[in-house]
Amino acid sequence: MEFKKGDKVDYHEMFDGPITSTGHTVKAVEHAPNNYGCDVAWITGKSGCIAMRCLSKAKEGKVKPSEIVDVIASGYEFHCPRCQILVKLIESTDTVQCPTCTRIYSNNGPEHALA
Ligand SMILES: [Zn+2]
Repeated sequence: MEFKKGDKVDYHEMFDGPITSTGHTVKAVEHAPNNYGCDVAWITGKSGCIAMRCLSKAKEGKVKPSEIVDVIASGYEFHCPRCQILVKLIESTDTVQCPTCTRIYSNNGPEHALA
C-alpha cells in the first residue's frame, strides 16, 4: 500500500492487526532505501515515523454520515442541506440518504414539525 502526503490513514500497532487508532493524516513519507530499511511515513498524532505496512487507507466517508438532519415525523421527510430539496422517506431509519446527491445523513430522530 502506497501513501502520500495528505492521505487519511488508520494506524495498526501490529502489522495486519486490528486498527489501533484512526483519523491520522500523512505528513511526510520516505521510501526505502533509507535509514529505516522500509517505506515509512510521518502521520499526525504520532511521534516519529511509522512503517507504511502498519498503515491502512482510512475508510471512505461514503457510509459514514456527513451531517445530522432532522427527520420530520409527519410523512418522514428531511431537508437535504446540500441539494436544498425535501426528501421523502418510506420509514425513519438511523441514517437517511438523499437520492439526488447520494449523501448519507445521520437521522437526528423523528421530530414533529414545529407547530
Ligand atoms: Zn442531496
